Amino acid sequence: MCVPGCLETVGRRVSRRALFQGAAVAAAAGAASSLGAMRVRAAAPRSFGRVVDLTHEMGPDFPNFSGQPQLELETMTTLGKDGYNMYRWLLVEHTGTHMDAPFHFSNDGPSADAIPVENLVVPLVIVDIRQKAEDDPDAQLTPEDVAAFESANGPIPENACIAMLSGWDLHVASEKFRGTDDQGAMHFPGFHGEAAELLIERNAAGIAVDTLSLDHGPSPDFATHYAWLPSGRWGLEAVANLAELPATGATMVVGGPKIKGATGGPSRVFALV
Ligand SMILES: [Zn+2]
Repeated sequence: MCVPGCLETVGRRVSRRALFQGAAVAAAAGAASSLGAMRVRAAAPRSFGRVVDLTHEMGPDFPNFSGQPQLELETMTTLGKDGYNMYRWLLVEHTGTHMDAPFHFSNDGPSADAIPVENLVVPLVIVDIRQKAEDDPDAQLTPEDVAAFESANGPIPENACIAMLSGWDLHVASEKFRGTDDQGAMHFPGFHGEAAELLIERNAAGIAVDTLSLDHGPSPDFATHYAWLPSGRWGLEAVANLAELPATGATMVVGGPKIKGATGGPSRVFALV
């Protein structure tokens, strides 16, 4: 199981094994080994032993920001009648665990298909605001939370995804996930716009939330969306299982949609630990 940089490590391991299989093979392996070592200097080896699925299962009843139905599955064929099973999906892009592409909030930003793959397999750092979120469902991840994270864990690496762990994924089956009050306002945690600006300075690739929006529920102006997405960076909303991961050290793999011109879309998201 390999991510970028790991293949070279495997190459070197194989080469070492080959050393025991004869002089000719060993000579070739030696050459491969030094080549591998040269490449490793360019891309640090990373390996993993566990995959965590950061994706919620999505069905027509999955809660969403609009509160309106956003997914329908229509049976087109069945195995018994047609010889194979197939559905047609009627789907709003921003449903379930999904990506916000820069184009969602900027007319000249990349659509989902145009995001370079190098920005979709990235170091994952997790900022835990669960205590704050438990005390206040409108909690925001602020620059102070980023500063506290960095003093405990070291600087946020370049081209990383910074994920907000509020614990909200555990509420996905209850009314608390949207947190709608009597006036129709929603209440759930999100990133503060100033934290988004700070993370742009850190040269981050993306941000992720375990709630329905990058902005917290009662946001009147989508300040975080407007600060973050027009900078050419992606967001992920309604991710799951962040609590199973260490604060640093995992690699996130974002299987975003490659539909031409998409503003985002349901994504399969993994963490390699
Ligand atoms: Zn969004």
